[in-house]
Amino acid sequence: MAKTEKTKRNPPWTRDEIILALDLYQKLEGTWPAPEDTRVQDLSHTLNRLWRAQGVDGVTLRNPNGVKMKLMNLRSHDPAFEDVDGLKAGNRLEVEVWNDFAGQPQHLRETAEAIRLAIMDNTLLSTAYVKNDALSSEEMDAPEGRILTVMHHSRERSRKIIQAKKKAVLTKTGRLACEACGFDFAQQYGDRGQGFIECHHIKPLCDLPKETRTRLDDLALVCANCHRMIHAQRPWLNIEELSDLIGSGCMY
Ligand SMILES: [Zn+2]
Ligand SMILES: [Zn+2]
Repeated sequence: MAKTEKTKRNPPWTRDEIILALDLYQKLEGTWPAPEDTRVQDLSHTLNRLWRAQGVDGVTLRNPNGVKMKLMNLRSHDPAFEDVDGLKAGNRLEVEVWNDFAGQPQHLRETAEAIRLAIMDNTLLSTAYVKNDALSSEEMDAPEGRILTVMHHSRERSRKIIQAKKKAVLTKTGRLACEACGFDFAQQYGDRGQGFIECHHIKPLCDLPKETRTRLDDLALVCANCHRMIHAQRPWLNIEELSDLIGSGCMY
């Protein structure tokens, strides 16, 4: 029986899932839960909800034993357990998530809570997966994972708020210039570039599920190149970091 079950492989753990598992791992503070522990059961339930939203289901999929196994894998990255004979089945993604979050417990807690909120909210969850394939292959998920990344893009591509932002900036400054590099499409391309600029949502990703309304101040105007560069690698850059990069890049 075990064999037939194994032939139908469960999908590999995603960054979002590992963040949630690491959050539970940290909350356990070195104690070891039984599979029937409610915290393990809750995580198993949350992860199943996430997969069902993508049409993936299965008896063994992220069951409490699978969750416990992942917690054991995470322990193999924990310096506090270095001499314990941990399970060395850890993968690259686990190491990445460990490095991104283990040293920032507060950030980990907030991010995990935001992901959980998004998974438990039917509208947020379905929106996240409908828009999933809207990401270009050159864009990189944020360290905070896929759901919050998709939510970020969806907020900054909302037509209504973009129009309002452009209008406000135009009224105030008389032009639409990139806040990182100063590029002005209208200046460069004439009429064709009139009114052309992208918006980048600048709020922390873990705030997104709590705030359903986007304010004009949550958006920065950026040219297409700068916007791509912000999202091209992990971690994403903020506008100031990108400006600094452009400044230093020009100093040859
Ligand atoms: Zn720019
Ligand atoms: Zn953006």
